[in-house]
Amino acid sequence: MSLDDVRVRQDAARRALADHLPDGIGVCAGEEVLPGAGAMIELVDPACGEVAALWRDPGAEGARTAVGLAAAAFGAWTALGPAGRAQVLRTAAQLVEANAGELALLETSTTGKPLRDSTAEVRAIVQMCWYYAGWAERINGETLGVSADFHAYTLRQPFGVVTAVTPWNAPLLTAAANALPPLAAGNTVVIKPSEFTPASTIRLARLMREAGAPLGTLVAAPGLGPTTGATLTTDERVGKVIFIGSVETGRDVAAAAARAGIPSVLELGGKSANVVFADADLDAAAAGALAAVFSSAGQSCQAGSRLLVQREAGEALFERMLAGIGRLRVGDPLDPATEIGPIMHRAQYDRVGRLLEKGLEQGARCLNDTKPPARLAEGPLRGGNWMMPVMLGDVSTDNPLEHTEIFGPVLCTATFTDEAEALARANGTRFGLVGAVWTRDAARAHRFAAATQAGTFYINCYKVGHPSAPFGGFKASGWGRASGRGVIEEFTQSQAVWLPTRSLPATFPSLNGPG
Ligand code: NAD
Repeated sequence: MSLDDVRVRQDAARRALADHLPDGIGVCAGEEVLPGAGAMIELVDPACGEVAALWRDPGAEGARTAVGLAAAAFGAWTALGPAGRAQVLRTAAQLVEANAGELALLETSTTGKPLRDSTAEVRAIVQMCWYYAGWAERINGETLGVSADFHAYTLRQPFGVVTAVTPWNAPLLTAAANALPPLAAGNTVVIKPSEFTPASTIRLARLMREAGAPLGTLVAAPGLGPTTGATLTTDERVGKVIFIGSVETGRDVAAAAARAGIPSVLELGGKSANVVFADADLDAAAAGALAAVFSSAGQSCQAGSRLLVQREAGEALFERMLAGIGRLRVGDPLDPATEIGPIMHRAQYDRVGRLLEKGLEQGARCLNDTKPPARLAEGPLRGGNWMMPVMLGDVSTDNPLEHTEIFGPVLCTATFTDEAEALARANGTRFGLVGAVWTRDAARAHRFAAATQAGTFYINCYKVGHPSAPFGGFKASGWGRASGRGVIEEFTQSQAVWLPTRSLPATFPSLNGPG
């Protein structure tokens, strides 16, 4: 793509930002836009370092307004009934599809995620809208076989207002993935996107309103964590919180919510191991392992950031991977050919650099050339957060890089001799989000899957997904499930209903009920 084409796209992205992140915006519930009262925040384009927009933290007061809007919308959303809510979600699918280009541009210009990835994520959101539209009409309780004297059954009831707190690495995807299920289940939702990436969530809230959702059904309250976020996750009108982010913040948020009597779902970080046995298709494993760690410049909760390879295949696999790294197209995220963009914000860029330095000091060895090319180090993109993919060898189990979620384009590699050693190492961190194995031995693959402590396991593939598959963590990677049937259960609570089938003597106490 020529520089002129990139400029045209950049102008379109800036126009979309100006439309959906107007100066001073705080809370957005569709056409209802309220100014923020808190600190002014700069949105910086990670590919060039320029300030692309300015907006305001809604602060505690704005957060309370956002919850008020969602609480007031609950009655109207309930009144639509399952069929009405399903229809809104189906219309949302069509609107997301119709606005896919703009949504992808907004996402790329704020995150630096390559346009091809943002476009794929928007496609995934369309699929989610259709999927959860289906669920809206299929949430059923059950008839209970209690006794001949009673007809008893359960209803699945929503919590009311759900707060979703999302991270910066996939703001639109996580906003949709964590708002659509509670909406389908009859809740209204306030989303607080990360302070680094507010724009696409605001656009999503507007699209939901255009799709026919009553005002306040989906409210975007982009703000800072300790002010807006802390209020949104402890307000007594909130029925449930879903938090997607780091382990440390997630635990604090869950503790504060619990003190306020609010249950939570936590979707946290990972340090996932990709295990390659010598009998694997090494071409497929090398390509899969590269995509697993370097897509989104490693800023993915699922990143296969540890590659463990059986010793006898190590040289052949590493040779393929180093050649593959050399072919990766790192560059302007608005160029559709780009595969890897910049680090999404400066503080994260600095953090990855520090972690890398520490890991190298502790014996890890860099296996590839990591100097950014002149086209990134000079010219209009020189102010961007550019970091080339890094492949490290000799990462020992006591190296901090083995245990710390780096969240950048850094792959830690090591070799193993047998299945037991590979398994111990794969399970050897506090995380448990994803695991993967590459092998032609089906029995071993299934054995390894069953023994791996991870919420998702891939065999001869990586980072595939569908809304019907549960997604969530074991161990420190979180609790609760954020998709599939399980997520509908997360965002509904069962209610038991009793009705006598004949006239019963009014004895007291009579029914053996709990408590
Ligand atoms: P983070 O924990 O720093 O922030 C996440 C969100 O929490 C942000 O919106 C932030 O503003 C908010 N926050 C901060 N303090 C808060 C407070 N006191 N009260 C309420 N909200 C508060 O995480 P991050 O750096 O934005 O995202 C990266 C992390 O997210 C990584 O660990 C990654 O693995 C994880 N992640 C997990 C999943 C998953 O599905 N498991 C998906 C994407 C990202």
